[in-house]
Amino acid sequence: MKRRVINLFSLFAILAMVVSCGNVKQSNNSIINTDDLKQRISVLASDDFQGRFPGTIGEEKTIKYLEEQFKLVGAQPGNGQSYFQEVPLIQITSDQIMKLKIKGAKEELLLNFSEDFIGGTPQPIENIDITNSELVFVGFGINAPDYGWNDYAGVDVKGKMVIALVNDPGFYDSSLFKGKNMTYYGRWIYKYEEAARQGAAGVILVHETEAASYPWGVVQNSWSGTRFYLADNIVTKSGLKFQSWVTKESANRIFDLAGVNYEKALQDAAKKGFAAQQLNLNASIGFKNSVKYINSKNVVALIPGTDLSDEYIIYTAHWDHFGVNPKFKGDSILNGALDNATGTAALVEMARVFNSQEIKPKRSILLMAVTCEEQGLLGSQFYAENPIYPLNKTVAVINMDALNIFGKTKDMSISGLGYSELDDYAVEVLKAHNRYAAADPKPERGGYYRSDHFSFAKVGVPSINMGFGVDNIEHGKQWSMDTMGKWISENYHKPTDNYEPNIWKFDGMVEDLTVYFELGYKLSMIGEFPNWRDGVFYKAKRDEMMNK
Ligand SMILES: [Zn+2]
Repeated sequence: MKRRVINLFSLFAILAMVVSCGNVKQSNNSIINTDDLKQRISVLASDDFQGRFPGTIGEEKTIKYLEEQFKLVGAQPGNGQSYFQEVPLIQITSDQIMKLKIKGAKEELLLNFSEDFIGGTPQPIENIDITNSELVFVGFGINAPDYGWNDYAGVDVKGKMVIALVNDPGFYDSSLFKGKNMTYYGRWIYKYEEAARQGAAGVILVHETEAASYPWGVVQNSWSGTRFYLADNIVTKSGLKFQSWVTKESANRIFDLAGVNYEKALQDAAKKGFAAQQLNLNASIGFKNSVKYINSKNVVALIPGTDLSDEYIIYTAHWDHFGVNPKFKGDSILNGALDNATGTAALVEMARVFNSQEIKPKRSILLMAVTCEEQGLLGSQFYAENPIYPLNKTVAVINMDALNIFGKTKDMSISGLGYSELDDYAVEVLKAHNRYAAADPKPERGGYYRSDHFSFAKVGVPSINMGFGVDNIEHGKQWSMDTMGKWISENYHKPTDNYEPNIWKFDGMVEDLTVYFELGYKLSMIGEFPNWRDGVFYKAKRDEMMNK
């Protein structure tokens, strides 16, 4: 009997989908209004918005603008009577005149901030003082029962300083972990969390351009000055007082001081059975911090569904960027036009398009512009841990972070392609447009963990991060890879990520947005809850919440 009901239901769903396809409103052959989209990007990326840094006038302007825009396109408040969800944060600004001292048996090493290392504290306290803390090399700093790997086995790092490598052993040996496909254990956030769980007093991560997938300059820009933490998080609650990165050159000098060859140490760390190593060095650091408690905001807007209005499809895009950094002479505003005024503007456009459908979505659509993505996915993590709508009623999350500005492509990339059944729906939508899904071209960059969909995956909600295709219709793949590589090295997280209406191509962006929309629309019309595939780490959590 039960089965019959489900079948009948699916039939209606399919019927509704077929009918609805013919009814998607078309104007200028596109459902997307390019002029409105451009206008919103230009406002969000304007100097007036000051680089949209959380807790500043830039935030105030951004969230006010988004509220206005959501109202304008007829989206309702997503949190009771409000368009906002408050995200309590601790904002810590560490003094940058600090020096990291490493003492060996005979000599010592003094490392300079920015040039040799960057660092700060997750603790909301004014003075950090670590004196002669033992330094332990913990390989990749990974404790992964699912891969039978524990770099902390047999070593007590309580109150000590650990030095660890970025990425995971699979980066160096394809038979380990997931090979070049970086696992969560390869992320810097994980390494700090694990060190905190182990009771370490400090962490020094070694930066390697290849393994981290970005140059030292990106670390400098992202870590200089203020850092944010969720008011309630495991790192702040632990004894971890210092988290830092050192350049590879600095790492070489530290290991030299210990009489250990760094390259050899790295090779050993990537072998099964690696054991943590006392370096017989002591590390000291002291610095002052200013601490502020602020409430930043996620912006949430709702397009209520019809028959299945208590089930939700969430679109996410982070509104925040890096604000103003006086370190950059001349233009010091990091406007974050591509990253992520594009995705944020698109949220409003999605709301408008959903609202203008003749056949309304059955499931509700939640448009969520999250804060503090650039600070470690904090806004989305906060929502995932404090959801407004039950997670077991949340069907899917579709993330938009940086839209295509290089022209039409045959493909769109899906990071973690094949992890969940959502990908099948995305593939179908792409197919209908004679396009195809491609795996993330550089999975070793850990793209899967680097935007807000991951905060939802972590708690079990199926989420999808679609992005740039590389199969450019006009110029081909190599051109795309080269062009993107060039864009990243010149503009990523720099003041030159500006809105360039005369350089950017919008035709590809509009096509991609059509796919984002149709995917969400399709998911809003079905009766099923797409799940993670068997063997995917996040599935157990989803199964557990769905069986409650
Ligand atoms: Zn981004």
